[in-house]
Amino acid sequence: MIPPLLEIIQPITDEEACIGFSIEHGLVYGQPRCARCRKSTYRHGRVWRCTNHPCGWSKSIFKDSVFGNTRLLPQVVLLIGYLWLTKCSHTSMQLITGCSSATITHFAGLFRQLAANEVEEDEGQIGGENVIVEIDESKFGKPTLREIRAVKSVKSREIHGANFP
Ligand SMILES: [Zn+2]
Repeated sequence: MIPPLLEIIQPITDEEACIGFSIEHGLVYGQPRCARCRKSTYRHGRVWRCTNHPCGWSKSIFKDSVFGNTRLLPQVVLLIGYLWLTKCSHTSMQLITGCSSATITHFAGLFRQLAANEVEEDEGQIGGENVIVEIDESKFGKPTLREIRAVKSVKSREIHGANFP
């Protein structure tokens, strides 16, 4: 279910709310233990830090997530994801976020991958159940920009379009 805009307006306007939302919804990896001394960590802004201060280990909470490797604020990335989910046109996403066409294309690709991975993970967790992946060619953006819709089904084993471009 996609929440209405007003229910998600805080995470897309406030960085702390955005980070909280992302941790809660698994858009970033959960709280790690220190990779150096295995002690617990705490969050300071965008960084996980080791509670054992002499150790000094820290890690960006955005590492290996859709928020990493970009100068964009995490709120903007979340907004792009929201607009993508709500089927906004490529042009609308550019106008609303102020991002370039290349940036929108890049993130649309990332979110498409994320949605595909989500389907695979669901399939693993459910075990006996199978997952049908339907890919709808959409009218927005570049022809490669597609919507991935997962429909869980106990009966069917068919997987359409298993190769995501
Ligand atoms: Zn440590």
